[in-house]
Amino acid sequence: MEELGRLPITQLTRCSPLYSSRPVGPQDQPDFVNAVVAVSTRLSPLALLDQLQALEQRHGRQRQRRWGPRTLDLDLLLYGERRMQTSRLTLPHPHMLERAFVLTPLADIAGHVSLAGGEDIATLACRLPDDGLRVVLP
Ligand code: AMP
Repeated sequence: MEELGRLPITQLTRCSPLYSSRPVGPQDQPDFVNAVVAVSTRLSPLALLDQLQALEQRHGRQRQRRWGPRTLDLDLLLYGERRMQTSRLTLPHPHMLERAFVLTPLADIAGHVSLAGGEDIATLACRLPDDGLRVVLP
């Protein structure tokens, strides 16, 4: 989170608690830790994605298997109300509505925000099964 706040022309504005959740897919691996942050940035969406991917690499990200353990996985969920679909970047993130480990921390920092369907994030988060979600660091 601190490193996100140090990205060029970017300020960290909100951080959710850290949550642990049961793994999706193979169960012979430890729980995952998830969190969501908000930043204020003058980077374009693609420039921000470049920075997130460079940060993943600096943390030694390796992909051993699909849905397997990873050191750091950074996704761009929303960029204001921007919608885009290119080979590198889809906004809003195409899977963000499917998992409580995404929507619950997002609701902590942006619960009042309405998405395209007209419902707010807090309402959408309440409807999902909880994925064994636990706050591990408030
Ligand atoms: P993953 O590492 O499984 O999260 O997927 C990363 C790939 O998804 C990268 O190649 C990105 O270019 C692509 N991608 C598409 N939309 C997004 C998004 N909203 N946030 C992060 N990665 C994205």
